[in-house]
Amino acid sequence: MENLTPPTKLVQIEPLRKASSIHTASTENQLNPKPVTDIQLPPIPSDGWVYAMKTYALSRKLLGFLYTTHSYGATRRWLMATFLPDKILYRWKPYQRGGCNRCGSCCKIVFKCPFYYEDGKTTACMVYTTKHAVPPCVTFPVDPQDLREVQREVAPAPCPFYFEGAPEHPTTWGAIKAELRAEWRKRKSKLKEAFDF
Ligand code: SF4
Ligand code: SF4
Repeated sequence: MENLTPPTKLVQIEPLRKASSIHTASTENQLNPKPVTDIQLPPIPSDGWVYAMKTYALSRKLLGFLYTTHSYGATRRWLMATFLPDKILYRWKPYQRGGCNRCGSCCKIVFKCPFYYEDGKTTACMVYTTKHAVPPCVTFPVDPQDLREVQREVAPAPCPFYFEGAPEHPTTWGAIKAELRAEWRKRKSKLKEAFDF
C-alpha cells in the first residue's frame, strides 16, 4: 500500500536569482541611468538651444585654460570619454564605490553649467538621461586621477565616490598598450593559421 504520510519538512524552493552584477547598484544606475522623479525639470527648448549652450560651455572651458587647472582635468575626461573604447574607458567601474548624491558641486566648478537645475530641494541635470547627455559627465569618475581632480575642485564639499581595488591595467596608457598587444597577438595567430607558418 502507498505511504501517504506527509513530508515532515517542506522544501523551500529558491527563486531563480539574476546573475549578480560586478557593479554596485549605484554604478549600474550610472551606466544605465533612469530619469529622476523627485524634481520637475524644465523642458529643453530645442536641439538648437542645447547646441548653443554646449558651445557656450566649451568656450568657458577653453577660456579656463588661462586661469584654472580644472580645464585640463575636464579636457582629459572629455578625451577619454570620447575616444577610448568601452573596454578601456570602463575598466575602473567594477571597483567604483559610493555614488553621486546630486550635490551639484561639480556642475558649478569655475562656471555654472547651463544644464544644471535646482529647485531649492534637490538638483538635477537637464540632459543627463537624454540624447544630449554629455559623455564626460556620464562616465565620471573614469579613474582615480579623474576623481581626485574633481574632489579637489569641490572641496570642502565631499564627492562620495571612491575606488576599492584596481583593474589589471590601472593607467590609461598601460591599458591601451595591453589592448594593442592583445590585438597584435590575435592578428599574428590568424596570419599563422592562414599561411601555415
Ligand atoms: S560632486 Fe560628486 S556627488 Fe556632487 S554632483 Fe558631482 S558627482 Fe555628484
Ligand atoms: S552633469 Fe549636466 S549639469 Fe552637470 S556639468 Fe554635466 S551637463 Fe552640466
